[in-house]
Amino acid sequence: MIIAIASGKGGTGKTTIAVNLALSLENVQLIDCDVEEPNAHLFLNPKITVKEEAYIPVPRVDLNLCDFCGKCREACVYGAIAVIPPNNQGEKGQVLVFDHLCHGCGACTMLCPQKAIREENRVIGVIEKGSAGSIDFVHGRLNIGEAMSPPLIRQVKKDIDSSRTVIIDAPPGTACPVIAAIKDSDYALLVTEPTPFGLNDLKLAVETARAIKVPFGVIINRSDNNDGIIEEYCKKEGIEIKIKIPFMRQIAEIYSRGGLFVEELPEYRERFSEVIKKIICNFAKKTLNRRK
Ligand code: SF4
Ligand code: SF4
Repeated sequence: MIIAIASGKGGTGKTTIAVNLALSLENVQLIDCDVEEPNAHLFLNPKITVKEEAYIPVPRVDLNLCDFCGKCREACVYGAIAVIPPNNQGEKGQVLVFDHLCHGCGACTMLCPQKAIREENRVIGVIEKGSAGSIDFVHGRLNIGEAMSPPLIRQVKKDIDSSRTVIIDAPPGTACPVIAAIKDSDYALLVTEPTPFGLNDLKLAVETARAIKVPFGVIINRSDNNDGIIEEYCKKEGIEIKIKIPFMRQIAEIYSRGGLFVEELPEYRERFSEVIKKIICNFAKKTLNRRK
């Protein structure tokens, strides 16, 4: 089962929760899809055994074959190609490819009537794989200045091991990288804080999860027993609050020194494990009912 940990904004403690959840489970894989700023390895210190370059195929145009028909530009929904036909002042035509806008979808290559486009791999980052104790670990690192995180996230997710419980640490926010990370997950845990900003970002995260049809529940982090603002919203929307993690000095101290609170406060290991067991159990029941 694949469970994504997501939040509508950064700084909610999403990665801490993803790591501590992974540590509370057996036969687990942690996939850090926050490729612009992967942090899970800082807590887990995994032993990396495999390192692979990640790349996307970008188009290269042979101007000797191109007749400047413009079909590639029309095909590109990302505006990554400009076609400048030759003019009657004798200036040669050009086809400009903006590599940093190209998502490597291949549409232009496929649709070029003159077969004037070939593809060239452009490195966008690296994928590292290894283990931390019994946790199977994979993360991606996007090259600095690179904007194409969704293709890297999709490549990182190719390493999902479906024989394990998979925890995906998704990037923060609600844009394309988040969708790439949580799409096809069986469940999402949306991490929020009991503040007006937290509520606003939770609403966006809920909209995203609903739009891509991933079932979800909520985790309230830094709960101060004054969580009415989130509770009322969840009640109104029929969303289950799976667990609350208190706003405790001890947890903040553990976090600030890069510690793992399930190791120092073992009662949380059990609570996290219970939360995931229930999610898995409900998922199994729903899958069985669908098959009947
Ligand atoms: S589709 Fe092919 S032939 Fe047409 S402008 Fe693009 S590269 Fe040139
Ligand atoms: S590969 Fe896709 S994204 Fe890149 S230029 Fe071609 S159509 Fe555009």
